[in-house]
Amino acid sequence: ALKIRDLSMAYGELEVLKGVDLDIAPGTVTCIIGPSGSGKSTLLRCLNRLVEPKRGEILLDGESILAMKPESLRRRVGMVFQHFNLFPDHTALENVMLSLTKIKKMPKREARQIAKTRLGEVGLAGRSDHRPAGLSGGQQQRVAIARALAMNPEVVLFDEVTSALDPELVKGVLDLMANLGSQGMTMAVVTHEMGFARKVADQVVFMDEGRIIEAGKPQEIFDNPRSERLQRFLAEVL
Ligand code: ATP
Ligand code: MG
Repeated sequence: ALKIRDLSMAYGELEVLKGVDLDIAPGTVTCIIGPSGSGKSTLLRCLNRLVEPKRGEILLDGESILAMKPESLRRRVGMVFQHFNLFPDHTALENVMLSLTKIKKMPKREARQIAKTRLGEVGLAGRSDHRPAGLSGGQQQRVAIARALAMNPEVVLFDEVTSALDPELVKGVLDLMANLGSQGMTMAVVTHEMGFARKVADQVVFMDEGRIIEAGKPQEIFDNPRSERLQRFLAEVL
């Protein structure tokens, strides 16, 4: 479980998170929605310490992640990005293997086995020897997801992972994520895909200007928004 308390973060003078409180229960999917610039990516980045918060606490199973060694945090919290961030000179298989050999210090043979299994799970068994340039956007994103899963993380963070994909490739990746969610993976998903949030999320969080304005079950958020800001946001995106 993730427990976030009074989390604040600033880029220089610009306050981007202003006291965020959020609980993410094990085996649940939390979708984070909100306008551009509201701090969604920054919140995810705090959760695996790509940026350091200014104030507040983040507990992963009761343990402060701010006190954890970066390597142990990287094992426990996986992240998938909008632009895949794959190594262009390595094959799909090698891309998945690399975090295992580098971060987990796993022997190559064992890493290769796990990487093959994970690529199979995301439907890429036949493409493991291709480099990113030889894969479609959707396939590259599946490699990135396989890479995150290979670490056996406790939580996986997804930041707009379908935003850079051609429309016809979006559904496949969303279906894969829905599948992971139904298998009990703990996920925090920043997304503009309201249909996905409604269908897959256990909890939807609406952020605006660095704060959580509303959080609740999809039905509450989408069918019964209480704040004027959320109503306005939904009117624009739905
Ligand atoms: P989007 O939906 O466009 O991805 P977001 O909700 O993810 O937006 P963030 O990326 O968290 O928003 O950005 C929050 C604020 O912080 C924005 O005002 C943004 O301009 C600013 N910001 C983000 N990254 C940096 C950075 N590296 N340096 C300075 N300011 C930044
Ligand atoms: Mg963002």
